[in-house]
Amino acid sequence: MLRPLYARAHATYGLPLSSLKVSRTMSSTAFIIPVDPKQPSSKAIPSLDLAKLWSTVPSGSSALKVGTTRIFYDTPAEKDGLNVTALTSLGDSFSARAGDARKELVRKAVGSAVKKVKELSEGIGEVAIDASIDPQASAVAAHLASYNFSLKTSGSTVYKPETGNHPPEKLTLHPLAGSTEWETGVAYAKAQNFARTLMELPANILTPTAFTERVKSEFDGLKSVEIIVHDEAWAKEQGMNTFLSVTKGTDEPAKFLEIHYKGASPESQPIAFVGKGITFDSGGISLKPSAGMKLMRGDMGGAATVVGAALAIAQLQLPVNLVVVTPLCENLPGPRANKPGDIVYAMNGKSIEIDNTDAEGRLILADALYYTSTVYKPHTLIDSATLTGAMDIALGEVYSGVFSTSDSLWEELRVAGEAEYDRFWRMPLDQDYAPQINSSNADLCNTGGRPAGSCTAALFLKSFVGGIEEEDGKEPSLRWAHIDIAGSMEATRPTPYQEKGMTGRPVRALVEFVRRMSQQ
Ligand SMILES: [Zn+2]
Repeated sequence: MLRPLYARAHATYGLPLSSLKVSRTMSSTAFIIPVDPKQPSSKAIPSLDLAKLWSTVPSGSSALKVGTTRIFYDTPAEKDGLNVTALTSLGDSFSARAGDARKELVRKAVGSAVKKVKELSEGIGEVAIDASIDPQASAVAAHLASYNFSLKTSGSTVYKPETGNHPPEKLTLHPLAGSTEWETGVAYAKAQNFARTLMELPANILTPTAFTERVKSEFDGLKSVEIIVHDEAWAKEQGMNTFLSVTKGTDEPAKFLEIHYKGASPESQPIAFVGKGITFDSGGISLKPSAGMKLMRGDMGGAATVVGAALAIAQLQLPVNLVVVTPLCENLPGPRANKPGDIVYAMNGKSIEIDNTDAEGRLILADALYYTSTVYKPHTLIDSATLTGAMDIALGEVYSGVFSTSDSLWEELRVAGEAEYDRFWRMPLDQDYAPQINSSNADLCNTGGRPAGSCTAALFLKSFVGGIEEEDGKEPSLRWAHIDIAGSMEATRPTPYQEKGMTGRPVRALVEFVRRMSQQ
């Protein structure tokens, strides 16, 4: 007998109460099956007549919207009556869709169903998913949707951040038929979830030192990976004065983290990621308003996302050499903090006037970009940063903004972002904005006023990337893109496969970008 959730309670099946009690303490298996409403069929569970089951779902005059999920108890039927089946609609247009659009419908359907099953709460342990339509997209959606961050001390899955890098998982997710595509999707999603956890953790727990310790333990045992953590004395020797100027206002030691993954031959030029790692941004002397300031625990989102991407790239053993660099520190007002009007000399010798101490991201990135581009000479350098409030104003949380010196790099990022629905929008990197940051007493000023604030920030960063200038008519030796994730860092409304909260974007787009590049 197949009945939707609201149709009955267990007791109507005539189970003796005593056995009901026993069964309540055991955990059930939930089956999730995506259904094309125009062709409801699936051989995933042989004992299940999917078309018949689907025909019992009230749908009105139009097909059920993508992600609409109906739950059936005691289905497929077994002696103990513990099984649950969730049928989830792929939407009316599914059969007409192809490529990236089709993948996204699968993610929405599977993610919505996982969320529904999660609501059934304590009774469900195992979740078996019919991932046959698109195993990778299914795995991504399932693992993103089941993610939960909480530091509440009661409940069945309590997360003690001192004992692990990940919140415990409530549901055990697996496909009805295993595949490498599923495993790839798991690596993508778990890397993104790792970035979400880093971003969610409060600044008193995730200090720069704690960030590096978590990264070390997460990468522990992975092949071809070397992790180097530098301290402030090292940064001083390097002449990283703009990076160090930001950390002057806090007692918490700054760290400069490098991850080296060597998946290709040693002579193969690396690709490089740089991530902004402000573990808390109060604004410094240019103090931010207190309302909403707690979001700034996630101001290391750039660092979290490049580290997360590197984790998946190393787990999947992609055949590339990758260098990841993240400067990590706090930005607090203190007796030694940067003051508006201070002028500092960056590692590349340029002078910078600090007009606003809250524009600190570009200060720490200036030295990190110069160091990475000149020491490791990558062919492609991408930085990720929660850089400007102006980016949130421009694009909100839908797109991450990309500024690039290279049309080919932009195009590759765009394609990767569409494939994962972790999307990018190209923004202008235009010299005509330069007067806004060039007219102080120093070579550069760290703010350019309110108009086009994201564009002037990107232009500022460009001054510190080595190898992007055309020389004697020759192509630049390096392709650079700056990704401003200040808008996409947080989801203020839930999506079908993510809850509200820190998003961990653009981890998947970056991994997909590198995977595609490694196949060329
Ligand atoms: Zn700031």
